[in-house]
Amino acid sequence: MTAGIALGEMCAKCWKDVTSKASRIGRLTAIVTTLLVAGYLVVTLRSVAPAWQTTARTVGAVAAVAWYLLTYRIAKRIAREWLQ
Ligand SMILES: [Zn+2]
Repeated sequence: MTAGIALGEMCAKCWKDVTSKASRIGRLTAIVTTLLVAGYLVVTLRSVAPAWQTTARTVGAVAAVAWYLLTYRIAKRIAREWLQ
């Protein structure tokens, strides 16, 4: 297929396939590493003083979400480079 929007040597359909495969890999990588980070945070936050538990948990949750988004973006980009 040569018609349509060609990106490099790929046609639009192949580009779409690679992108969806890359986001699946990115999502999986992000979920696995986030679970590891969350596990580490849960263990670490246990030693936080009771008065600071709520704050610590909020910070931990924000950190886990930020980690997920960052890992997803990076892993997706790397996966796309590989699959291309
Ligand atoms: Zn194609």
